[in-house]
Amino acid sequence: MLQRQARPLVSAPAETAILSLLLAESPLSRVELARRTGLSSTAVTKAARPLIDGGYLHELPPKRTAPGAGRPVNPLSVTPDREFFVGVKISADALYGTVCDLRSRPRVHASRPLGDRGPVAVCALIAELVDELLDAEPEFRARTRHLGIAVSGDVDRPRGSVRYSVLPGWHDVPLADMVARSTGLHVTVDNDVKALTVAEHWFGEGIGTEYFALVTIGAGIGSGIVVNGQLLDGAYGVAGEMGHISVDLAGPRCHCGGTGCVEAIASSDAVLGAIRRGTGREDLDFDGAVRLARDGDPAAREAFVRAGRAIGAGIATLVSLLGPERVVVTGEGLDTYDLFGAHIRETYEALCFKAAAKCPLTLRPLPWEEWARAAAVVSVQALFP
Ligand SMILES: [Zn+2]
Repeated sequence: MLQRQARPLVSAPAETAILSLLLAESPLSRVELARRTGLSSTAVTKAARPLIDGGYLHELPPKRTAPGAGRPVNPLSVTPDREFFVGVKISADALYGTVCDLRSRPRVHASRPLGDRGPVAVCALIAELVDELLDAEPEFRARTRHLGIAVSGDVDRPRGSVRYSVLPGWHDVPLADMVARSTGLHVTVDNDVKALTVAEHWFGEGIGTEYFALVTIGAGIGSGIVVNGQLLDGAYGVAGEMGHISVDLAGPRCHCGGTGCVEAIASSDAVLGAIRRGTGREDLDFDGAVRLARDGDPAAREAFVRAGRAIGAGIATLVSLLGPERVVVTGEGLDTYDLFGAHIRETYEALCFKAAAKCPLTLRPLPWEEWARAAAVVSVQALFP
């Protein structure tokens, strides 16, 4: 392994519990930390000490909780600038990058259009992008050890390799090693939808939920699932692939080899294909197909209706199986929500099993920069064992 193995910052369970709580919710008093983690206040003080000494936590000025309430408390807070994390999202036609601080706040953004999308060219461009990001502030370069990369497809997280992606030539690419070699950073690689799910669970719509799901619609249909507060990885690194649930056994073939997958019916390419066939206009691009549908062309409208029903059926399956508290729907497909949103909701409500249908669908447009931030957020996890 050429990858620089950064040692976890914390190893003891008490330190892990305190740091993870404070990363999400600073500041907190030691009393509050003890209550929330189930540790004694002595254990909290002992666990916090090395993190304060290392500059990761600091004490805020004393605050009296109430008049005459005894000893004032010094709440503990994460020191955001102690360490920075780079995140890069590889999309079909561009790279998006950001530097986040310890509280996962983005401090700078940059992007690069992708020409050659092969692994070697993309790795070289990632190194260039990371250089630009780290040059933005002298403290970024001095205090950044971790880079998180998010990419669509089948990712082997422990090995940092991309087993399969729709990008051309991406089969068993040892991406983490390749990028570690050129940047000198410790690199983690994650499936992009899973990274976004983790970020939304920590800092977005999923905060505080034990059961949570995120669904992306657009060029692909993806999903990430949180169960018992943890991202579901699956025994083989593949779990919660809502896009490849079959909702129509007589439906079209999917690029995955399956039949009638949600993605085979509802991805933007699938919708475009259906509209081209329905109208006989092979020259249509996606924007033209959307315009036709908005102008009321029956074949174009029908393709979106079918897509909406497929997505609704997929989400209903997910929700009936797992009973999440909330499902966030995001992705560039939200741009055409006017054409299929009602059909997503109708089918979802019709097919959900009983009380599971109480789970609300929350629409959340997230720009590409948020996907890059998600990659950085996931790399923060390298601080933990
Ligand atoms: Zn499929």
